[in-house]
Amino acid sequence: MGLTQVDAARYNIITIMGIKLKDILNKAEKGGRLTKEEIVFVLGLRQKDHIDALFRTARELRRKYFGNDVLLYGFLYTSTYCRNNCSFCYYRVSNRDSRRYRKEETEIIKAAVDLARSGVHLIDLTMGEDPQFFNDKAHGLESFVQLVKKVKAAVNLPIMVSPGVVPEPMLARLAKAGADWFACYQETHNRELFKKLRPGQDYDKRFNTKKLARKYGLLIEEGILLGVGETSEDIAHSIEVKRTLKADQVRAMNFVPQKNTPMSNHPPPDPSKELLIIALMRLVFPEKLIPATLDVEGLAGLKRRLEAGANVVTSIVPPQQGLAGVARSFLDIDNAHRTAGSVLPILEDCGLKLAAVPSGN
Ligand code: SF4
Repeated sequence: MGLTQVDAARYNIITIMGIKLKDILNKAEKGGRLTKEEIVFVLGLRQKDHIDALFRTARELRRKYFGNDVLLYGFLYTSTYCRNNCSFCYYRVSNRDSRRYRKEETEIIKAAVDLARSGVHLIDLTMGEDPQFFNDKAHGLESFVQLVKKVKAAVNLPIMVSPGVVPEPMLARLAKAGADWFACYQETHNRELFKKLRPGQDYDKRFNTKKLARKYGLLIEEGILLGVGETSEDIAHSIEVKRTLKADQVRAMNFVPQKNTPMSNHPPPDPSKELLIIALMRLVFPEKLIPATLDVEGLAGLKRRLEAGANVVTSIVPPQQGLAGVARSFLDIDNAHRTAGSVLPILEDCGLKLAAVPSGN
C-alpha cells in the first residue's frame, strides 16, 4: 500500500527534522556554538529516535570532558524560614503549613561530617532568606559565615553556599570563610515571569549578586525552573544568559506543585522536559557541571538524568536527622535513598563511577 499525501508530508517533515538534528549534533560534537534558533529546534524534539540521538551525543560529550566521573553533592538545608513569598515554593513566608526549622550549628557540622565520610565531593549549605539572619544584617549573616568556616574546617571539602541575595560585603566574608561556590537561581530570565514567580523581588539585584560573587572568587551556579509558564524562546534566552554569565554549573529542574501555594494547581511539566534540557545544556556547555537532582523524582529518576548527560548528583541528604529537601521536602530522605550508598549502584548501571575525592580530604 502506497503512502497517502498526509503520510508523505509527515515522512518528509520527519526526514528534514532528522537531517537538521544530525547537523546540530555534529556541530556540537565538534565544539561549535549552537545558535538560538538551533536551541529552540532541539527544544521542539518529540520523536523518540531523535531524543535518543540527542542523549547519545550528550553522553559522548560528557565522556569527552569528564570521562566516567560523577560528583556527589551533599545538601544541608540549614534553615527553612524565609522572608520571601515565591509563588512556587513550599517554604514561602505565607505558607503557614510549611515545616520550619533552624538547625543548630552542631547539628549541621555533624551532618556535614557524616556526608563527607559517606563520600560526597561538596557540601551545599542552603537556607531560605531567614529573617533572623537577614533582618539583623551585620550580626545575623555573620553567624552563617561562622558556620561556613566551621564546616569547611570539619570536612575540608568544597563548600557551596545558597543563602539568597546577600549584601556584597557578605560575599567577601563568605569567600574568606572558605566558601567556593555561590548558588542563587534566577529560575527564569523572562522579567515578567520573574515578577510572577518571585513577587516583590528585584530581578537585577538577584542577578547582579551572582556577578559580584564572581568578583570575590566564588564559582557560580545558575538555575532555571521548568514548566512554570516559560516558552521555548525563554529557555533558549536563559541558556544564552548562562553563557554570558559564565556560570560554572548550570541547572534545570522541573517544577513540582506545592500545597498551599498560589501554584498548587499549576500542572507539572512532562517529566521528559528536564531530561531534554539537561541534554541540550550538555551540547551547549560540554565542559560545565550539570546536576541530576534527587529532589524532583528521588532515586527513581536518577538514571534518566544521568543518561541525558548530567555529571553531578545533587541533594544527597543524610537520613534521620530531620533535614528537608526543597522541591520534595521528604521524598527518599529518611528511607536513606538519598545517600551515596544508594546512588552508587545506579552510577555503575550507567557505566559511570564516583570521581576521586582530592587527596587531603
Ligand atoms: S524559593 Fe527560596 S527565596 Fe523563594 S520563598 Fe522559597 S526559600 Fe524563600
